[in-house]
Amino acid sequence: MADERRFRGPIDLHTHSSVSDGTETPAELVRAAAVAGLGTVALTDHDSTAGWLDAAAAGAEVGVTVIPGMELSTRIEFASVHMLGYLFDPGNPALVAETARIRQGRLTRAEEMVDRIAQDYDITWADVMDQATEGATVGRPHIADALVARGLATDRSAAFAGILHWRGGYYQPHYAPAPLTGVRLIREAGGVPVLAHPATGGRGRVIPEDRLARLVDAGLFGLEIDHRENTEDGKARLHELAARFGLAVTGSSDYHGEGKPNRLGENTTDPEVLDRIIEEATGAAPFYAS
Ligand code: AMP
Ligand code: FE
Ligand code: FE
Ligand code: ZN
Repeated sequence: MADERRFRGPIDLHTHSSVSDGTETPAELVRAAAVAGLGTVALTDHDSTAGWLDAAAAGAEVGVTVIPGMELSTRIEFASVHMLGYLFDPGNPALVAETARIRQGRLTRAEEMVDRIAQDYDITWADVMDQATEGATVGRPHIADALVARGLATDRSAAFAGILHWRGGYYQPHYAPAPLTGVRLIREAGGVPVLAHPATGGRGRVIPEDRLARLVDAGLFGLEIDHRENTEDGKARLHELAARFGLAVTGSSDYHGEGKPNRLGENTTDPEVLDRIIEEATGAAPFYAS
């Protein structure tokens, strides 16, 4: 089996470029993955596939296999839930339409948040637009960068801990479909869905079992357990759930370049798990490095 594999490890299945809220272009990110010693990296920008081809071209140059993916925004009431999707058809009409709707919703929401922040701080929408690449999926990280540029926060993390915190007085959710819709959209596009960092709030806030059961019935493949923001007791609970529901376990960095402390390859995924993702996917193939 091992010598049939056309990808090398270590494998990091969750990263962001400037196509969403990472600070490096897709090509820079893949080159950084090579420097970090990774053999395979998934590009999973929020609600966008616009970086796939640039990442693939860089991967071919530096000998890194690129797994095309996305982190789809979903939500349950006010709680945002992130759904990773791998190897789906990027032209699938339903997914293309839904991601366009989410990106538009994110833009409107960011503008409304900035309007409110601007009542108390010296910041404009143009400041935020200066921080985002043309066409990027806009999020709070771009508002954070604008606050930093204005000297209103020391770095992204400080902005998230203060003005941009969900209890900071300016927070607003954005449009996103339900997680169940997310799983279905990814599967219908031939992709493989993995629930991203499901235990950031600890054991007590891990997704309820009946809700998880419905996601599994709809085709959920795995849980991203090895992620720095999952708490230790939350991870223990997730391992119980993965065993009970026969879900795969992944690990990844959720690298955002300089915008977050997460380092490439700080968590990795077992090659057997990636083999199964590739086997199940029918929407796209990995961009193999060799
Ligand atoms: P939003 O999706 O617009 O609500 O913004 C949340 C996103 O900001 C998540 O994807 C986080 O990964 C990202 N993010 C980037 N840098 C940071 C940071 N330093 N602290 C917290 N979240 C961050
Ligand atoms: Fe992000
Ligand atoms: Fe996320
Ligand atoms: Zn992410």
